[in-house]
Amino acid sequence: NYIDQLKNGQNNILVAIRCRPLNQREIERSEYEAVRILDERVVVLIDPYYESNQNDVLRKNRNKEMQFAFDYAFDETISQTEIYEKTSKFLLDGVIEGFNATVFAYGATGAGKTYTMVGNPDNPGIMARTMNQLYYLIQENSNQNHFIVRVSYLEIYNENIKDLLSIEDKNLDLREDPSQGVVVAGITEIECSSTQEIMALLKVGNRNRTKEATEANEASSRSHAVLQVQVEIKQVEQGPQEEVKYAKLSMVDLAGSERAANTSNRGLRMIEGAKINQSLLCLGNCIQALSQIQEKKNSNLFVPYRGSKLTRLLKDSLGGNCRTVMIANVSPSVLTFEDTYNTLNYANRAK
Ligand code: ADP
Ligand code: MG
Repeated sequence: NYIDQLKNGQNNILVAIRCRPLNQREIERSEYEAVRILDERVVVLIDPYYESNQNDVLRKNRNKEMQFAFDYAFDETISQTEIYEKTSKFLLDGVIEGFNATVFAYGATGAGKTYTMVGNPDNPGIMARTMNQLYYLIQENSNQNHFIVRVSYLEIYNENIKDLLSIEDKNLDLREDPSQGVVVAGITEIECSSTQEIMALLKVGNRNRTKEATEANEASSRSHAVLQVQVEIKQVEQGPQEEVKYAKLSMVDLAGSERAANTSNRGLRMIEGAKINQSLLCLGNCIQALSQIQEKKNSNLFVPYRGSKLTRLLKDSLGGNCRTVMIANVSPSVLTFEDTYNTLNYANRAK
């Protein structure tokens, strides 16, 4: 079973697709669905433009129906509880033992990334649920270990790192620390003792996100938002020779994956689009290399962590003993076919 392998560290990357329901506007325009999900594993994508593409050099080699298989493929009926339990809950077992883990939400703007990660008060997403589980496990293990939880929240915008928990608007640098791994120099870290405190910080941080508007995208769609939860683990009866362990859980609401070419932006906005894609492209390349290393058991393969800020930041949280979950979000609407096609291909390379 796949999850058992992931838990045992034999297979460290889980790739899931989540297809959201058609929204009210899409239903009113009677848009039909271009996406079918079979067996919680297989995605069938139907190309609405297939006939007209036969004259298009770039597109004519595509099939009318395309099939992709993933660790999981969830249709619009998946609940927030179930998606959390199937993709992320078990990550915490590793975290409280000192293993890093990362959860990414990937997809075009409007596909459901923030819903998946943050959700709403009635249907909280993966962030709140993993935090609840973390504090539950900390409680359960409090006889053997002392835990300290510290939270930071940052965004990567135009390849610059910004502290979302600080009012100072400056760019931060990355350093590598022998015991703590990759560290963002000078970032605000806040000790938290409950999920509510962490969610309150998330709210504060979201107000500080880069807010310049563009035609096609809302503010949050152009930066990567990274919530990092650092857990310090000390044995209750800690001998002087025993080391303090650290684990990091990173939860990432990625920038919208739609291409800059889709907007009418020029100048600064164009550069921004290219930089968003640099991080997304590099992340895809790193995950692809890591899954090849795992598959071929060839640890000499090069992983291009240094190719973007996002992958440098997460260097110690991807690969090795770390567990990585990629949830690729798509809309079922026929109008977003091109985005869905690109997202499925991206996710397909990662698995
Ligand atoms: P993104 O962050 O990828 O731009 P959002 O998460 O903001 O997209 O989702 C766009 C809209 O669709 C939001 O109003 C959100 O509440 C809704 N939505 C997304 N996924 C779902 C879902 N699985 N079920 C119900 N509503 C959803
Ligand atoms: Mg969003």
